[in-house]
Amino acid sequence: MAKEVVLSGIRPTGFLHLGNYFGAMRNYVRMQDEYNCYFFVANWHSLTTHPDTSELRNSVHRVIAENIACGLDPEKVALYVQSDVPEIAELYLYLNTMAYKGELEKTTTFKEKVRLSPDNVNAGLLTYPVLMAADILIHRALKVPVGKDQEQHLEMARNFAERFNHRYGDIFPSPQAFNFGGELVKILSLDGNGKMSKSENQMNTIFLADDDEQIRKKIMKAKTDGGPLTPNSVKPDYIQNLFTLMSQVSTADTIAKFEADFNASSEGNCIIRYGDLKKQLAADMVEFVKPIRSKAADIQENKELLHKIIRQGAEKARISAGATLKLVRDAMGMN
Ligand code: ATP
Ligand code: MG
Repeated sequence: MAKEVVLSGIRPTGFLHLGNYFGAMRNYVRMQDEYNCYFFVANWHSLTTHPDTSELRNSVHRVIAENIACGLDPEKVALYVQSDVPEIAELYLYLNTMAYKGELEKTTTFKEKVRLSPDNVNAGLLTYPVLMAADILIHRALKVPVGKDQEQHLEMARNFAERFNHRYGDIFPSPQAFNFGGELVKILSLDGNGKMSKSENQMNTIFLADDDEQIRKKIMKAKTDGGPLTPNSVKPDYIQNLFTLMSQVSTADTIAKFEADFNASSEGNCIIRYGDLKKQLAADMVEFVKPIRSKAADIQENKELLHKIIRQGAEKARISAGATLKLVRDAMGMN
C-alpha cells in the first residue's frame, strides 16, 4: 500500500529552538519511516513579514542543517526549499481565484499581523493561507503536522481544495491536522511569558545553536518561586515547563526525584530546591543540545553537501508537484 503523504514547513525567520524541536522536528523524525514525508523551508512565506533577504540564504541553510542534525534523513524524506519548486507558485495563482477577500481578511493570523505591523500590510500577508494551501495541495498531502495556531489555515486549505474539486474535478484530498503519537508539547518561554519562539522572547528561548554557557545561563535564570505550599500542589505553568523540559532530556531517576521532592513539599517544609533542579536540567540540556549543535555546524560548513541535499530535495518535490500540476492543468483545460 502506498504510504500516506505528510507535509510540513518551517519559516527561515531565525534560529530553531527547543519549542521547534520538541513541538515539531522530533515528530518529523518519527514519521519519516511510516509516511511519505515532504518537509520544506518556507522562504517565500518569510517574505511576508521579513522582507530583508540579506540573511535569508544563511537562515535557509541553517534550518536545513539543523533539521538533519535533529535526525531527518534526506534520503528518506523530501527536504526542500519552497522557492525551488515553481509548481507551488502556479497552483497558488489558481487557488487565488478561489479565495475570497472577505474570508482572507477575517483570518486570525492576518488580523494579528496587521495589528503588529500596520505599515506592511502587503497582499502576500493577506493571501498567506492560499500559499499555505498550495504548499499542501501540490503534493496532495493528507496529513499536516501543525500546531493549534495553524488549524484555521488548514480549514481554509480544505475549503479551497473543495472549491477546486467542485469546479474542475476531483483532484485534491482533504488535508487534516496530524499529531503523531498523541500529545503535543508546547514549550514556554523561560520567563513564563508566552512560548519559546524564533522571533520573540529570544533571551528566554533556548536555541539549538546556543553554546553550553548560554544554555546554563538561560536555565539558571528561568522563573521559579518559593516552592509549593501544600503537598501535591498543581504546578504553576513556568514550573511545569521546567519539568516538561526535564522529562525530555533527563533520566527517569532524576525526574522521579524532583517530582517526589515537589509533591512532598509543604509550607515551612519545602523539600524541592529549584536551584538544584535548574542545575541538573542545565547539565542534562547541555549534553542533549551539544551533539545536535556540533552536527548542525558541520553540515552548515559543508556547502557542497548542503547544495547536494537541497538539489536532491527539490528533485523529489518537483516530481510530486509536477504530477499534481499536470492533473490540475488537465482538469482546468490549461494544457
Ligand atoms: P516565529 O516566531 O517566526 O513564528 P516560531 O518559533 O513560532 O517562529 P514556526 O516556524 O512558526 O516557529 O513553527 C515551526 C513549528 O514549530 C510549528 O509546527 C510550531 O507549531 C512549532 N513550535 C513553534 N514554537 C513552539 C513552542 N514553543 N512549543 C512547541 N512547538 C512550537
Ligand atoms: Mg510561529
